[in-house]
Amino acid sequence: MTTISHWIDGKSIAPTGETLPVLDPATGKTVAEVALADTDTVKQVVASASAAFPAWRDLPASRRAQALYTFRELIRDHQDELAEMITREHGKTLDDARGEVARGIDTVELACGVPGLLKGETSEQSGRNIDTISTLHPLGVVLGITPFNFPVMIPLMMASIAIAAGNTFILKPSEQDPSSAVRIAELAKEAGLPDGVFNVVHGRQQTVEALIDDPEVAGVSFVGSTPVAHSVYRRAAAAGKRVQAFGGAKNHLVVMPDASIEAAADAISSAGFGAAGQRCMAISVAVAVGGVGDELVAALKKRAEAVVVGPGYDGRSEIGPVVSAAAQQRIRKIVADAKSAGADVVVDRSTEQVSGFEDGFFIGPTLVDHVTDSDDIYRTEVFGPVVSVVRVDTLDEALQLIHDHEYGNGASIFTNSGGAARKFQREACAGMVGINVPIPVPVAPYAVAGWKNSVFGDTGLNNAAWKFFTQPKYVTSRWDEAVSGIDFGFRPN
Ligand code: NAD
Repeated sequence: MTTISHWIDGKSIAPTGETLPVLDPATGKTVAEVALADTDTVKQVVASASAAFPAWRDLPASRRAQALYTFRELIRDHQDELAEMITREHGKTLDDARGEVARGIDTVELACGVPGLLKGETSEQSGRNIDTISTLHPLGVVLGITPFNFPVMIPLMMASIAIAAGNTFILKPSEQDPSSAVRIAELAKEAGLPDGVFNVVHGRQQTVEALIDDPEVAGVSFVGSTPVAHSVYRRAAAAGKRVQAFGGAKNHLVVMPDASIEAAADAISSAGFGAAGQRCMAISVAVAVGGVGDELVAALKKRAEAVVVGPGYDGRSEIGPVVSAAAQQRIRKIVADAKSAGADVVVDRSTEQVSGFEDGFFIGPTLVDHVTDSDDIYRTEVFGPVVSVVRVDTLDEALQLIHDHEYGNGASIFTNSGGAARKFQREACAGMVGINVPIPVPVAPYAVAGWKNSVFGDTGLNNAAWKFFTQPKYVTSRWDEAVSGIDFGFRPN
């Protein structure tokens, strides 16, 4: 049995102590075990990242970018290998996994632009014979804690910007699919990143808390579920650290009466059932406006029944399993509870089995109609291939639903009306908005950032992360002859 080890100071560390099994969600079988970092390992990784920081910080940005260009090429060369690792441990289809790696590469490319992007400002003659400049400085050792659902993309989103900005980075990936994180760290070394700049340690709550509490860790970037995001945010902030923590979601897609129902149903199916509903930008609520409900539900039913469920490494599968037996049981319970509460479950494939893979954690597409905003299935983040349909009369009612929901990650509208689209764009209470697109995740030169309980902190990932991973310094200087003389006033410029 392979043990997935920590990667500290440019090498694999022989595991000591506790391990956890890593499962193939398609078979339910253990494929490896992952080491859990104890206190000594946490101290070791922080010491390595601290020691590497001064030299990495002092390297010109263009030299850091050179290493990142090579890193990008290596990830591209190993795209299939990384995708296979994702599929083996996460369960998503190979095609979807390749897409995930490609989105991660987008951020590495963005990070390669560091020499042009991390520039300060200058105001010559900001006072009489006085100049003011601002410069941007890395924080030091920064920590990234990442979720299971994007085991390559989210680590790359955090690490590449943090490292390009001159920080050294400790990644604590999900213990459910940890292999690709270590492979990325190996590629970072091969790309020429000095030892200690990119480290990986595995673990759960205890490891995360020890890392956050270490005085040498200056910044914490987290992506995961809302309860954990909130607790990580509170703990890091209480220690006076810079922290951004991205949480869960419940994304609505509003279908207007003038929209193409076929296009909207395609979008809802792709974004609701794709990756077995395990994307933070998955559409889990379809809002049918003004009488389109029956036609929309019929179109969704046809699609939900047709989806091919199977192991991600079988090219015929359109969606793979969910990540774990616990996730499978939790989602099945949500659907069963909704049924007992009288929900109109139009398609229920939640207990479906895949022939030859009976021990896999599969959940087939499930469609629930006539859901209301007081139903548990509406309020909870299901994180499975389950779409709820809510019927309303007007766009204002649809916007109110989005406004009132606890989460505010993304929201989309399908319409042919410019007026409706513009109103939605302005008023939808979510950080990422889509118009006639199913998953409104902006491209890397923008930001990934939700609103409300989908985020704690005020900076996004991708291009917004420069601000998170640097701190500004403001320098005021005067070089004229008449600098001496006492002046007790607080002078205007
Ligand atoms: P999770 O919160 O269970 O775990 C996330 C990370 O935190 C993992 O590395 C895990 O080991 C660690 N962790 C777990 N419990 C902890 C605790 N008590 N204290 C400290 N650390 C802990 O999330 P997950 O199930 O891996 O990921 C799915 C969630 O992530 C969903 O809610 C999804 O919406 C969210 N997500 C959000 C975004 C976004 O951009 N907002 C992106 C991707 C995923």
